[in-house]
Amino acid sequence: MPLFSTEALVLRGYKLGETSRIVVLLTRERGKLRAVARGARGRRPRYRSALEPLSEVRVSLHGRQGAELLRLGEAELLHSAFRAGGRSLDAALFLSGCAELLDAFCSDGEAEDKVYRLALAAVRAAEAGANPELLGRYLEAWLLKLNGLYPPLDRCAACGGALAGSTLRYHRAAHGFVCDACLPASGPVLSSEARALLALFFKAPPDTLTDGFEAPARELEAFHRELIGAHLERELRAPRVIREITREGAR
Ligand SMILES: [Zn+2]
Repeated sequence: MPLFSTEALVLRGYKLGETSRIVVLLTRERGKLRAVARGARGRRPRYRSALEPLSEVRVSLHGRQGAELLRLGEAELLHSAFRAGGRSLDAALFLSGCAELLDAFCSDGEAEDKVYRLALAAVRAAEAGANPELLGRYLEAWLLKLNGLYPPLDRCAACGGALAGSTLRYHRAAHGFVCDACLPASGPVLSSEARALLALFFKAPPDTLTDGFEAPARELEAFHRELIGAHLERELRAPRVIREITREGAR
């Protein structure tokens, strides 16, 4: 009897022994988890292409409730991202970045239905031919927003007043954009085009992203890298610190 069955997106996998793999799955029901896929490698691999990154699968998982590592039973391929990746090198790069970002942003065992639906929409949009660079920025913007890390575009982070004007001036110490009265700001400054693109991201579905936003997309790439870097540094540090504290307490 499996512990449970769920839909999932494959985020990545790594080798285990001669014939197995450990796969990292973003499941619809229980968030991110890891499972051993026995027989996934070797001369006659089980599962075939179902375990490729960003494949959408229906899986059954075995093991003990709360275990850190489960065992993969059945994995039925519902939808392959292969066609999207085959469109262009940019699309393939988008998909690998997409899997990496999802892996970095999702916590183990925490169901995040919005993130799951966002990931599905992004992969489908890549398949439908949306601009991969814009899709990358779109996904970053939404993952940051869903994690409460995207500063509001309409309110000053320092005084709460409305953000007038057309550009957005970021101030690191305030973790957000600031108004004229609260200047100076550390930067970066986002152009009016970048601001408009962000507004579009937060109201339009990803399959509507067409070409023609190259310059503002590049501005957002640098800005997002900064926000994500600050977030991940905190995230990566946290588990280690917690482990150390627990160990201290156990002495
Ligand atoms: Zn202000």
